[in-house]
Amino acid sequence: MQKVDYRNVIFKDGFWKRKETLNHDVTLGAVYDRFKETGRIDAFSCKWKPGDPNKPHFFWDSDVAKWIEGASYDISRTHDPDLMEKAEWLIDRIEENQGDDGYFNIYYTVVEKNGRFTLRSNHELYCAGHLMEAAVAYYEATGRDRFLKIMEKYASYIKSVFMDGDGNVKPAFQTSGHEEIELALYKLYKATGNRDWLELFRFFVDKRGNNPLDPVEEYTQSNLPVRKIRRAVGHSVRAGYLYAAMADYAREFGDSEMAEACRLVFNDITSKRIYVTGGIGSEAHGERFGEDYALGNLSAYAETCASIAMMLFAQRMNLLERNARYADIVELEMYNGMLSGVSLDGDSFFYQNVLEIGDSQNISYSHTVKRRAKLFECSCCPPNINRTLASMEQYFYSKEGNAVYINQFGNSEYCENGIRVVQETRYPMDGKIRIKISGADLIYVRIPGWCSEFKASQGYAKCNGYAVFANPKDIIIDFCMKPVFVKADKRIKDTLGKVAVKYGPIVYCAESCDNIKDLNRIRLNITNPEWEITCDEVHCVCMLEMNGFEVDSPSLDLYSELYSKMINKRIRLIPYHMFANRDVSNMKVWIEKA
Ligand SMILES: [Zn+2]
Repeated sequence: MQKVDYRNVIFKDGFWKRKETLNHDVTLGAVYDRFKETGRIDAFSCKWKPGDPNKPHFFWDSDVAKWIEGASYDISRTHDPDLMEKAEWLIDRIEENQGDDGYFNIYYTVVEKNGRFTLRSNHELYCAGHLMEAAVAYYEATGRDRFLKIMEKYASYIKSVFMDGDGNVKPAFQTSGHEEIELALYKLYKATGNRDWLELFRFFVDKRGNNPLDPVEEYTQSNLPVRKIRRAVGHSVRAGYLYAAMADYAREFGDSEMAEACRLVFNDITSKRIYVTGGIGSEAHGERFGEDYALGNLSAYAETCASIAMMLFAQRMNLLERNARYADIVELEMYNGMLSGVSLDGDSFFYQNVLEIGDSQNISYSHTVKRRAKLFECSCCPPNINRTLASMEQYFYSKEGNAVYINQFGNSEYCENGIRVVQETRYPMDGKIRIKISGADLIYVRIPGWCSEFKASQGYAKCNGYAVFANPKDIIIDFCMKPVFVKADKRIKDTLGKVAVKYGPIVYCAESCDNIKDLNRIRLNITNPEWEITCDEVHCVCMLEMNGFEVDSPSLDLYSELYSKMINKRIRLIPYHMFANRDVSNMKVWIEKA
């Protein structure tokens, strides 16, 4: 199965078109402005001197690179002259300040001039990787190859440092302390056809956990050779980027041992360490994967970037295995764990995505847990949202010969080499989709994991979680969408006695501003919910209301009467990704049932 170029897919009005438009109208500008205010943009001039304000941080290159990448995807559709000008200005500075040898890194050019490639944890190759991804995106969007050539020169230098061992610069490490260069080199190879980048990609993946120059540590997934990986460990974003690169590797080289490691680590995450929202990396300490089933709601870390990393991994597993269950995880992240990272007005962000806000929140980041922030000192997530929302088209379709796979649903059109597939739908407000097809022999339509029954207007076969239609022309498929209660495995302590609510792919939550302040005093009536479903046509989602109860305050005694008072109350639920967009409110995804 092959990835479809995002440029061959167009969104029509609907959920993702509106998110993409908001990203263009607000979020790209907002992130750029914050980066300008904090010195991240001007840092590319490499004029900072000791004593000046805004001392460049070693990961600033990557923040801005992700912004350029996001702007590039946008430019491919909008040709926005302002975005082009900003990107060109940055590329001018990169070109000016690139060393004769090809090296480019702001921090090691102006702050620590003699430290090049000496400290593995200082994100040097991570920054290089994001710049390479930006260069590929900019080239594909504009046809201009200047930035691509700059980054190929840099890649060539990196290859000489890390692979030959004969250069003047002796590296103190072999693999990056923060994975990313692997994904980037593979993209660089795909864009240029230069096998040097494929070779370097292979080198960095193979060397991880497998050479004496790197520390043996779980935090950077360097405790084991990658083919021996069975369990997700360490920093969750780093892990997600590595596993995604391993899936690229397994597909490119037909490496079955690597594919098996990918499958097993994917299963490890999705069976023991993922929140119902798709959030991964539950531990704030080290932003890392926690123990099995240790998925606290108030304490959830679930970084926005980690959900994005999981989307990248799941998408590549879908391509590798042709199995719809991986696209289910992409969908879970799209509508929940990733999207909760940005506000409805598009200009503030969550780094950490908790599943519960309560009066007793006593964790160190509580100020940014309850309210989205305009910027974070470590600001990896906002530009990651930029590049994700600007390229959501990449997740919708894939292809194999004359067969087309529909992996995600939304009003959209895919056209390539005489094949045309159009989806007409109000998804995710309802599950009915009309699909018009020309030029394809087979169409594979993902049967969503959340869907227990569906109807189709013509006969189909089932294969790997897809409904397969032969000689398709005009199909109407209806994935019966209704609110459902979700229970958790009993080993997850924080969800005992509680349920979550889903409607289609969307996870819901209760906020105190719609209900009562102390959400610990509400109970859901799961036997007689009497659902009321209201469409919010602006945000293209449904709002839910159901029967429940308000109970008396929890007793502080160890034992007390179950409820001395229990009154009927309608409970209002909103999509989880929409929480914290009004006043600061308490919030719960997992709610006690009556
Ligand atoms: Zn982040």
